[in-house]
Amino acid sequence: MSYVNEVIEQVIRENPNEPEFHQAVKEVLLSLEPVVAEHEEVFRRDALLERLVNPERQVKFRVPWIDDNGQVHVNTGYRVQFNSAIGPYKGGLRLHPSVNLGIIKFLGFEQIFKNSLTGLPIGGGKGGSDFDPKGKSDREIMAFCQSFMTELSKHIGADTDVPAGDIGTGAREIGYMFGQYKRLCNQFTGVLTGKGLPFGGSLARTEATGYGLLYITQELLRCHGIDIAGKTIAVSGAGNVAIYAIEKAQQLGAKVVTCSDSTGWIYDPDGIDVALLKNIKEVRRARLTAYADEKPNAVYHEGRGVWSTKCDIALPCATQNEVGLEDAKLLVANGTTAFAEGANMPTTEEATAYLQENGILFLPAKAANAGGVATSALEMSQNSERLHWTFDEVDAMLKKIMVNLYHNIDDAAKKYGFEGNFVVGANIAGFEKVMEAMMAQGIV
Ligand code: NDP
Repeated sequence: MSYVNEVIEQVIRENPNEPEFHQAVKEVLLSLEPVVAEHEEVFRRDALLERLVNPERQVKFRVPWIDDNGQVHVNTGYRVQFNSAIGPYKGGLRLHPSVNLGIIKFLGFEQIFKNSLTGLPIGGGKGGSDFDPKGKSDREIMAFCQSFMTELSKHIGADTDVPAGDIGTGAREIGYMFGQYKRLCNQFTGVLTGKGLPFGGSLARTEATGYGLLYITQELLRCHGIDIAGKTIAVSGAGNVAIYAIEKAQQLGAKVVTCSDSTGWIYDPDGIDVALLKNIKEVRRARLTAYADEKPNAVYHEGRGVWSTKCDIALPCATQNEVGLEDAKLLVANGTTAFAEGANMPTTEEATAYLQENGILFLPAKAANAGGVATSALEMSQNSERLHWTFDEVDAMLKKIMVNLYHNIDDAAKKYGFEGNFVVGANIAGFEKVMEAMMAQGIV
């Protein structure tokens, strides 16, 4: 059995009931086979892959908080500090009832390579809780965030671990967490990113993941002789990533005809009205049915179905495993040209294989959505300098990072004989830098 397969088996054996983590490890390690084969003896001796798949540290803690009726609730908090070979741990905090250790580990593992691909000095980590922010009052959200940070503050720091937002953790939650950290530690430092502008946040961070997704997709298409202007795009999700992906796509001259949330999806033949979508999701925090109520040409469908829409470009921006084999078949049958993952691991293994085998240009999440964490790292730089950069400065850096990232993964794929396979290219390019740093730092 190959070294890679031995380590995959070990991960499955030692981490039972963590299917998402198994999926992420398998996907990355299998694509690293050509690099591992070149260095197998040294990697085995130094247990490099075993060290890569075992987090440096994982913390699990109780988060008690009191609701508006005086009832106490107990949620579980997590922070997985996966790999600090190239910089302080960096990765978001997810607040969603589906959160468990396996989900946080899959996200943290992916984050190692994504952060490496940005070219910036940030290691990989992830955290969160099974707390559901939906339907909670502001005071309840604050109570949860303060309790969560009371424990988390013992494990993070501006030079140690710098968490950020993710599903369910937006500007409001980051604000409450930052306030509590400052109060507990008596330090005003860049310990969290995604902060509000008056207290150390970066311009363009809110837009960064969605905008970055479009910058890299535009570069991919440009290098294949395709102009993004005039193309029809299907987007899933209606959160932070989806909204700003839609906004930038429209600025680049494309037409986005769908969006979705966890209850249903919208088809708008006139192109999604971003201002209305922002108002519904960011201000009113309402369901997408409100969109169809206000736009007579738009149709609301219950349940899933975005991928049945005919589109040139598909951008899944909601959650993991939201694109299955049947969806992939529909996309191929409908003549889709490019597929770029805005969400983390939105595509199942079978669907990814099917899309790639059928010639769809496929950009994996760790490359396609790296704009968010890249801009978080730019927020850290501004905090260290105690300066603010303009929106245009940050946006220009983001664009440069995404264009360079595309060429790095393209070059890595070509170097190992996998031209056009950006999944392999991204894993190899992300891994090489981390591997070099781990080897140089000895057995730690
Ligand atoms: P948000 O919470 O802002 O939005 C998530 C969207 O996806 C919402 O529309 C939500 O619907 C929908 N959704 C969530 N869970 C499910 C589910 N189980 N089934 C169907 N729909 C679901 O999160 P973000 O936009 O920040 O994140 C989206 C994805 O992008 C995640 O995978 C995240 O890890 C990834 N990502 C985010 C980055 C960022 O900077 N924000 C950076 C890199 C990756 P509803 O409104 O009904 O809950």
